[in-house]
Amino acid sequence: MSGKVTLVGAGPGDPELLTVKGLRALEGAEVVVYDRLVSPAVLALIPPAARRIDVGKEASRHPVPQDRINQILLEEAQAGHNVVRLKGGDPFVFGRGGEELQVLALAGVDFAEVPGITSAIAAAAYGGIPVTHRDCASSLHIITGHAKEGAELRIDFEALVRARGTLVFLMGVTALPVIVKGLLEAGMAPDTPAAMVERGTLPGQRRCGAPLAALPDRAAEMGIHSPAIIIVGGVCALAEELCWFQRLPLYGKRILVTRPGDRAGTLSEKLRDLGADVVEFPCIRTEAVSPCPAMEAALERLPEYEWLGFTSAAGVEAFWNCLRDMGKDARALGNVKLAVIGASTGRALEAHGLTADLVPEVYDAPHMGEALANAAAGRVLLLRAEEGSSALTDALAAAGVAFDDIAVYRTIYDNPRSAELREELEAGGFDFVTFTSASTVKGFVSAVGGDADFSRFTGLCIGKQTAGEAEKHHISVKTAAKAAIDALVELALEK
Ligand code: SAH
Repeated sequence: MSGKVTLVGAGPGDPELLTVKGLRALEGAEVVVYDRLVSPAVLALIPPAARRIDVGKEASRHPVPQDRINQILLEEAQAGHNVVRLKGGDPFVFGRGGEELQVLALAGVDFAEVPGITSAIAAAAYGGIPVTHRDCASSLHIITGHAKEGAELRIDFEALVRARGTLVFLMGVTALPVIVKGLLEAGMAPDTPAAMVERGTLPGQRRCGAPLAALPDRAAEMGIHSPAIIIVGGVCALAEELCWFQRLPLYGKRILVTRPGDRAGTLSEKLRDLGADVVEFPCIRTEAVSPCPAMEAALERLPEYEWLGFTSAAGVEAFWNCLRDMGKDARALGNVKLAVIGASTGRALEAHGLTADLVPEVYDAPHMGEALANAAAGRVLLLRAEEGSSALTDALAAAGVAFDDIAVYRTIYDNPRSAELREELEAGGFDFVTFTSASTVKGFVSAVGGDADFSRFTGLCIGKQTAGEAEKHHISVKTAAKAAIDALVELALEK
């Protein structure tokens, strides 16, 4: 049976500018054929099981010729695969999408097209430039600034000047002087507002603005490179007023998020919404102790406990999985009271319809120990990490509270991409590295190596214990006022 090709526009770079339909197509793909301009953040959304074919570059560093790309699409579809052809921006805006679909149509292969947000509009928008505006532009022209190999640029500059609309040139960085000269010679005023937006919608976005005649010099001064769009017209004058993206408080800040992959989400999103260039690198992961006879035995005796305490979402998960494997459910909890160390552990319980009876005022092990010691009359069951802090159990022991402390998961420090992280640290460094537990510090140090240059960033730590661990490695730290993600984000915002 023949497969199908879905041509998907990946948008200009920001992964959240991929359409809902494009994302769904990507999630169902068996093979993804992609171009150079598709951003790494969008590529990260490709399901791990899908085969990736990069046609943006080859071993010889030349792009794969169009004929060969067409052939790959045909072969993969005819082999019965569900193929996604992923292209930067919109596939039909200087993306050769039409050519590829014609080949499929001719061969009788099924295809569909999912439009994308074109850089012609989005890069301008992120640069604070609306491509039309009632006061100054009633038409929009998107023009390629790329000439065929060896040929001269053939643009009807007179017609463009006469139309008096907004002009957006794609692929025009090399030809910028020729484009500007052509417009001026065709009679456009030298002081017409003009701009370029480089790497639009991406963390390193830069905007360059100047009157038309001065744009080539200004762009050269700033060293503007491809990919960039050139915008010409009155709308460019609005950029100073409307340039929102580059004014975000964390714009230009590069932040490493070290949380385990499945918990990085909210922290990364909050930082990205504030404009930061977030690099996710899970320095630790957790693995349930499985089978866990000690936990099974304790769960059989649950009614004998007065309190059940959790210090992380990973502990909560291990507990539910064990309960389920034993053929039990929430009713097994009976009247046992629930203690959690902080808000996110509390949310992990709430996901199962349970509300914690106790959350310490300060989200850390000593305070949880103290709070439990005050509240407990009967026996306490702690389900936590193998290397859990003794501050918690010390407080219970000191108060004479009986407890069982069972290790239900362990922290694993290996990450196959460690060498990459060290390279990144050495190459550009980070403004901040976020640490959400002492174990993320240990994981980070073991990933980059103890001899790495820790002066290249400030560690943002969620609490005292985490900060203590970082200081052992001479990392300069800032500690959150409260052990919560929002407080960590506040640290990044501090002047
Ligand atoms: N189909 C794409 C355009 C492909 S042509 C789209 O709709 O966006 C490639 C050109 O697109 C580049 O030379 C550059 O001019 C522009 N471009 C693509 N991504 C860009 C980005 N993030 N920022 C600025 N320009 C970009």
